Amino acid sequence: MGGGPVLRALEALPLVDHHCHGVVTADLSGPEFEDLITEGGSWPGSSSFDSPVGVAVRRHCAPLLDLPRHAPAEEYLARRAGLGWREVHARLLGAAGADVFCVDTGYAPERLSTPAELAAAAGGTAFEVVRLESVAESVAARGVEPGEYADAFRVAALEAVRRPGVVAVKSVAAYRTGFDLDPARPSDAQVTEAARHWLAGGGRLADPVLVRHLLWTAVDLGLPLQLHVGLGDNDIRLHRSDPAHLTDWLHLTAGTIPVLLLHCWPYQRQAAYLATVFEQVYLDVGLALHFVGPARSRAVLEEALEITPFRKLLYSSDAYGVAEFHFLGSLAFRRGLAGLLQDRVDSDELDLPDALRVAEWAGAHNARQVYRLPGTS
Ligand SMILES: [Zn+2]
Repeated sequence: MGGGPVLRALEALPLVDHHCHGVVTADLSGPEFEDLITEGGSWPGSSSFDSPVGVAVRRHCAPLLDLPRHAPAEEYLARRAGLGWREVHARLLGAAGADVFCVDTGYAPERLSTPAELAAAAGGTAFEVVRLESVAESVAARGVEPGEYADAFRVAALEAVRRPGVVAVKSVAAYRTGFDLDPARPSDAQVTEAARHWLAGGGRLADPVLVRHLLWTAVDLGLPLQLHVGLGDNDIRLHRSDPAHLTDWLHLTAGTIPVLLLHCWPYQRQAAYLATVFEQVYLDVGLALHFVGPARSRAVLEEALEITPFRKLLYSSDAYGVAEFHFLGSLAFRRGLAGLLQDRVDSDELDLPDALRVAEWAGAHNARQVYRLPGTS
């Protein structure tokens, strides 16, 4: 593999992973591992390893477990089980080279590491991102009257974000209603009426009025808001998660909170446009990086960077469950970004100091500034 000064600089840069999840703190069976490395679930007669991310695991993670590159899936799984989850996490998280993690703690059907446990395994620092749908659903589970819901949610959200280490909130509105919503703040009467239906019927928060109330509550909280965009499992209606639907809401909320568009694939160009025309919008292409693998991460980053101002791109792995993803996200980001920046240097579109600055901004500094992380100037 070639190199060059940009890649060397990026390889030496401790990344800020501004959106990720914990890792499963248990040994995984083969089927459990295969379930965790796909957004699609397991289908009879097919293996999750027969995919871009599966071959990337065999190519890039196997050597970290003392196996040859491209080791067969069965050998990979056997070696992983033999080493045990603690050793696997230490090796892969160590190789990922991130020293700060902003961890979404709102989704954990498995037993996942806490932010502190993840940070300890990686030798870094972790902060927490509060998922607002989880807060709303716990308020509903407590049993409130419809007329009390709006205030009860606001109070619960405020309590959640005042805990030490919380740096942002997150919404999965993309999964629940999509973004083609009325952008206006709903009235308390509208919220009460919507809450009446939701609290009577139960289930997940998926009412458009309550989702709008949640997004406006995020504005009131004043912390950066992470929004899941695009790529996700089959719960999502992909076309409704196009962030361009947020345009009117972004006009209404201009001058308030930073809005961080997560993942974005295949809408990285729409996200890049929004980051270009709205001061408060930032983006990453996390999750996409490991699913396309190092072989294609550069192409995704290139589209994201066609027009995005350089202070608006952040790094995230959006790794969930397996430390392979924390590592692959980092590897794909460093190689993809280094490749495209180095080419621009080599063709004299960019000079080297500028390229190194862009790399450092995207890999660490932009996130430190948006989240006001300690140690940031
Ligand atoms: Zn995530």
